[in-house]
Amino acid sequence: MVGVGCPKGCGDLEYKDERPGSSFALIFLGAICLIVVVHELVFSVDLFLPVMLSIAGLWMIYYGFSMDKLSRLKCGVCKGVLIETKQIDDLLKDDAYYFRKRLEVSKNVSSYDCPDCNEKMRRFTITARQKTDYTSVGGFVVSALSMDKIKQIDGCSMCDLLWLDVDEENLLSGKGHNIIRNSQ
Ligand SMILES: [Zn+2]
Ligand SMILES: [Zn+2]
Repeated sequence: MVGVGCPKGCGDLEYKDERPGSSFALIFLGAICLIVVVHELVFSVDLFLPVMLSIAGLWMIYYGFSMDKLSRLKCGVCKGVLIETKQIDDLLKDDAYYFRKRLEVSKNVSSYDCPDCNEKMRRFTITARQKTDYTSVGGFVVSALSMDKIKQIDGCSMCDLLWLDVDEENLLSGKGHNIIRNSQ
């Protein structure tokens, strides 16, 4: 693989694979099924349950391993991430279209070069507002008083990629904020 450099100039980015938590749960359940199967084979004469359980267990383990990994190009130094087409959709879901639209019309030139086409990236601002927490009075007051967070996102519209600094990735990965869509 040809090295993709961090736009901040820290060095090459590395692929980081992250399995979704649900795949671990499936593999774990599948392993329990197989343990029960062994137990049943040793202590029981009935073969129906062990056969059914081993099919279920193997299927869960197989399915757990075949789940899509989220791989992101990450900088080991500044912890920023570069996300492309599918990862943008995965991360931003309903907001992906809004982000792309904002990037496409943005006239603000970023200080970073696109690692793909070496053109200057563009940047745009997004506003993230903490979701109101109705579950407790304290949470409600904190979320109601918290300031909107303004973030500068860099990206390349041509290559369909976004560069997220570590705090931007944390903000967008967490489920605690809504992106406020303003027209300008
Ligand atoms: Zn970096
Ligand atoms: Zn590009």
